Amino acid sequence: MRVEEREDPRIVEPTDAVIRLSAACVCGSDLWPYRGIAQVDGPAPMGHEYVGIVEEVGGDVRTVRPGQFVVGSFFASDNTCENCRAGYQSSCVHRVGIGGLGAQAQYLRVPLADGTLVATPEPPPDDLVPGLLAASDVLGTGWFAAVAAEVGPGRTVAVVGDGAVGLLGVLAAKHLGAERIIAMSRHADRQKLALGYGATDIVTERGDDGVGRIKDLTGGLGAHCVIEAVGTQESMMQAIHSTRPGGHVGYVGVAHDVALPGLELFYSHVHLHGGPAPVRRFLPELIDLIVERRIDPGKVFDLTLPLEQAAEGYKAMDERRAIKVLLQP
Ligand SMILES: [Zn+2]
Repeated sequence: MRVEEREDPRIVEPTDAVIRLSAACVCGSDLWPYRGIAQVDGPAPMGHEYVGIVEEVGGDVRTVRPGQFVVGSFFASDNTCENCRAGYQSSCVHRVGIGGLGAQAQYLRVPLADGTLVATPEPPPDDLVPGLLAASDVLGTGWFAAVAAEVGPGRTVAVVGDGAVGLLGVLAAKHLGAERIIAMSRHADRQKLALGYGATDIVTERGDDGVGRIKDLTGGLGAHCVIEAVGTQESMMQAIHSTRPGGHVGYVGVAHDVALPGLELFYSHVHLHGGPAPVRRFLPELIDLIVERRIDPGKVFDLTLPLEQAAEGYKAMDERRAIKVLLQP
């Protein structure tokens, strides 16, 4: 991981915007290529979470204008195609991955600006910027996981994964009215944040022992709703096994070498729904909640570094010294 000078992005398509980033950050999913688990072909720009001020827009852009503070998500989307209108903007037929453009930078070209960017009512005070940056991915992803897991009043929710997405899945579950929220975490600082976000129980065991604890806490049945926010074979099976028959798993950890055993799935009677979160679906609501200070997702950032020190940010997250690193351009 290194920081280097590149040419400033400029408008390419008339539907583009160029934004000056107010803050960027390192995602748990950035650690897959960092660790050599995901394929990387030569030097590649990094980063797909972003908030910033619109510098310039192309001739066809109608809904955002220079000077506005905007939040976008990790897939640019037209927000008009059939998949977008169904609420699956991350499967937009015209989607463009922001990771390939590189949001860990000073400037970013955002394709499909009208369908991708959501402006705040006014430029936010500095202390709200981390929360709005969280909305760009980790909050939106945790929120989608909770919605996909059908979290609602009276439900018991278990959360597998204590990274930023899992912790914000706890926040989402609380906001959506869950009665009981069981966070699975072995780290004291993350447990504390989970409890602050609304967790009612902490389970420190993992794998079959973790499943056993969830069963103990739910009358032997398992949780109604389980959020999976890791993406490994162990975490996925822990999520499925922690779910009661008829229950729902919302899985948002980017799956690496996960294979589901068909017969076990057949007899589990659980619903599985997940994938890359359609963050754009939730952005207007999440921005309102943050601006009105009703939720504070920015607390997941426990280390802030200048962009030049991005390498140290990756290292700190890789070694789990930091939950999530904010990079200041
Ligand atoms: Zn679309």
